[in-house]
Amino acid sequence: MRHFARGFIAVCCWVAISATQAAVVENVRSYRAPDYTRLVFDLSESVSHQVFSLENPDRIVVDIADADLTADFSALDLAETPISNIRSATRNEHDYRVVFDLRSKTQPRSFLLEPNDQYGARLVIDFYDQETSSREPVARRSTDDLADSRREIVIAISAGHGGEAPGAIGVGKLQEKKVTLAIAKEIEKRVNATPGYRAVMVRKGDYGMYLTERTRIAHDNNADFFLAIHADSFKNSSARGTTIYALSQRGATSEQARLLAEKENAADLIGGVGKVRLDDKDEMLRSVLLDLSMTASIASSLEAGNSIIAALDGTTHLRRTSVEQANFVVLRSADIPSLLVESGYITNPIDAKNLASPVWQQRFAGAVVNGITNWFYNAPPRGTWVAWHKENGGSAPAPRVSSYEVRRGDSLSEIADRFGVSTADLKAANNLKSNTIRIGQELTIPNGFSPIDITFVEHTIARGETLSEIAESYRIPLDRIRETNALNSDTIRVGQIIKIPSS
Ligand SMILES: [Zn+2]
Repeated sequence: MRHFARGFIAVCCWVAISATQAAVVENVRSYRAPDYTRLVFDLSESVSHQVFSLENPDRIVVDIADADLTADFSALDLAETPISNIRSATRNEHDYRVVFDLRSKTQPRSFLLEPNDQYGARLVIDFYDQETSSREPVARRSTDDLADSRREIVIAISAGHGGEAPGAIGVGKLQEKKVTLAIAKEIEKRVNATPGYRAVMVRKGDYGMYLTERTRIAHDNNADFFLAIHADSFKNSSARGTTIYALSQRGATSEQARLLAEKENAADLIGGVGKVRLDDKDEMLRSVLLDLSMTASIASSLEAGNSIIAALDGTTHLRRTSVEQANFVVLRSADIPSLLVESGYITNPIDAKNLASPVWQQRFAGAVVNGITNWFYNAPPRGTWVAWHKENGGSAPAPRVSSYEVRRGDSLSEIADRFGVSTADLKAANNLKSNTIRIGQELTIPNGFSPIDITFVEHTIARGETLSEIAESYRIPLDRIRETNALNSDTIRVGQIIKIPSS
């Protein structure tokens, strides 16, 4: 809990950056996080600015030196924010003043961001809420509770990037931050539908977060597992597939893993404010103290990661069939087994299509959750419902099942495919001895949430292309393309659209 003195006035210094001509505030957007509101001003060039608070009534004033404004504040959604109104005017002939009228007190923080791939120079103003309790544990139990209850296993799910940090940009301008949140939500649903488990969403919407904030949320919620969700990118669009990473304290298992860790670490820092928090100064001491438990948690992470890979096998294209390791900041939560899932390559046409597809997201999330719950069932933490359940002869808990009524033309293997389960699992769940099913029969779908359609990427034939070249570029056997498109010969014509199976 933070306290603020009454009559608090924060005065920032002028941030000295030379500006020879008037900068223009071209655009403004806002993000609402659980405990602060972020406003981002797009600038034609870097500016000098100062921010201060005024009372009676409460206001925050932002003065921008040598600036002009073309941005439209009226388009901002201020409903969930402490800001009631925004006014702006020219001041001292060439400076610009923006006044934020407040409905509740906030603590402002501001900083400049350098241009990146997506945006130019930006001025960021964060309005921190003073009254929220979001910094408090959401559901911390008392020790008494832990002692005599069969507690749930808590999985913290951290959707990568967010807010001003879109992460990787892929085919069709697909943004990593959106994909990661969508997959995280599917994982959350399945975790919460599994007896003995509870999900904690680390990022709940479109806003940036410090890496240390992410692990803090996991700790505050007594998480048993930390799962960071990302999507990869590469300059060569043919790179594709899922990779799972664990922390390495010694060094990366491959050059690619090292580069990726650098990229994700840097990208997520921008998601915060580009600087580490002050309370990180004891990070060094802490890391020494926690070294031992960290070694143990890395071993657990590797096991859990391999369990997820086993569950994903056959569900999605795997780039690596064992867990890779590198020094990811977000995985340094010491005593909690932690993994970073690069779900696919947003820069590959097939992966991008999958990553954006709700049905693929569901299938992928289902396999990830299976992998985790299988691993936990193997060695459940003491005092958990899962441990108690196992001691009493219960099998590994799976997400609550759904059912499906067999229709004309259905086959068992096709239904299994549609729901993303194996034919063997489907038969086991329904005590079927053969593959024979009848119309109207009610089938129990293990791990089933909604039917999964096999998705395709449509490819329009360009001049000079051959079918075998296309097969090679999508890394799909030529036969599968012939089969999917019912082609009798390999003759194709320019402009013809062919379907490329997505997995
Ligand atoms: Zn990422």
